[in-house]
Amino acid sequence: MNAKELSRDLMKGERIALSKAITLVESTLENHQELAQEILKECISVTGNSLRIAITGVPGVGKSTFIEALGLHLTAKGIKVAVLAVDPSSELSGGSILGDKTRMQGLSSNKLAFIRPTPSSGSLGGVAKKTRETILLCEAAGYEIILIETVGVGQSETAVHSMVDFFLLLMLAGAGDELQGIKRGIMEMVDGIVINKADGDNIINAKKAQSQYQSALHLFPPTDSAWTPKVLYCSSLEKTNIDIVWNMIDNFQNHMQKRGLIVQKRKNQNQNWLHEMIKETLKQRFYKDHQEQIHKLEKEVLNTKITPSQALKKLLP
Ligand code: GDP
Repeated sequence: MNAKELSRDLMKGERIALSKAITLVESTLENHQELAQEILKECISVTGNSLRIAITGVPGVGKSTFIEALGLHLTAKGIKVAVLAVDPSSELSGGSILGDKTRMQGLSSNKLAFIRPTPSSGSLGGVAKKTRETILLCEAAGYEIILIETVGVGQSETAVHSMVDFFLLLMLAGAGDELQGIKRGIMEMVDGIVINKADGDNIINAKKAQSQYQSALHLFPPTDSAWTPKVLYCSSLEKTNIDIVWNMIDNFQNHMQKRGLIVQKRKNQNQNWLHEMIKETLKQRFYKDHQEQIHKLEKEVLNTKITPSQALKKLLP
């Protein structure tokens, strides 16, 4: 496979080339990784032009249904939409989000949409790297909105937050205990909350939950961007209020762009990413290069011949 040709086809928007490039990014084979990096280098100048949006929430909240509804809303306007998933838990559960394409039937047959299921497991760090690079490839292929689905398991949200412009939390209106189940850390990251399944009798509850979450958000200190997170409600199934949700995201983009904050946010994200990769690589190299010594010292520690601190001194004087 030729990196130059593949990049050229990818930048023309050819889906097969995009799929192939993503497969290379996801591969653990060294020659595939080399090719993937070559392709990224070819494409880098035409990346960064999309709006990157994370969609999170507990399983069953309606993420796929919402993405389908929002995706169709956008493609109807002629906007190209890519849908990706981050699910580091798939290794444990054996399942994968987005794996079941029938969940987004309308969108998966839409010419303006590109749906990529979860990369086949791996560490959170590994999955995050693949997703970041996949975002860049989708941008090079001309996708204007990138929707990244993630399951609400805490750790993955932090990783996803560090690669998107807008972080959207989907919630359900509960009976009286609306504020339960929201982790503080996630509330601090959100740019918007949408109460899903606001249809039928549930609309009243959704409105109640909306005002409760809105006042809960006031308890958090304002962010650097001076953007106040909004709380809205919609029905993904009946496709109501999807336009209002999109308006919120659009307003956010305008707000950020006027102040040059998207560029700044991405610079910070890239800087952090670089440091994360340095740490990860150093760790891997160190363990690989000192395998025997570590094994020997481990035994000494286990036999209480030396303390862990003394062992460390021997490894890193
Ligand atoms: P995910 O696990 O978060 O991706 O949730 P799904 O999108 O698979 O939805 C879980 C279930 O909730 C499915 O049976 C959907 O049909 C249903 N659902 C999703 N959105 C809505 C909605 O807006 N209203 C109603 N009534 N049901 C919904």
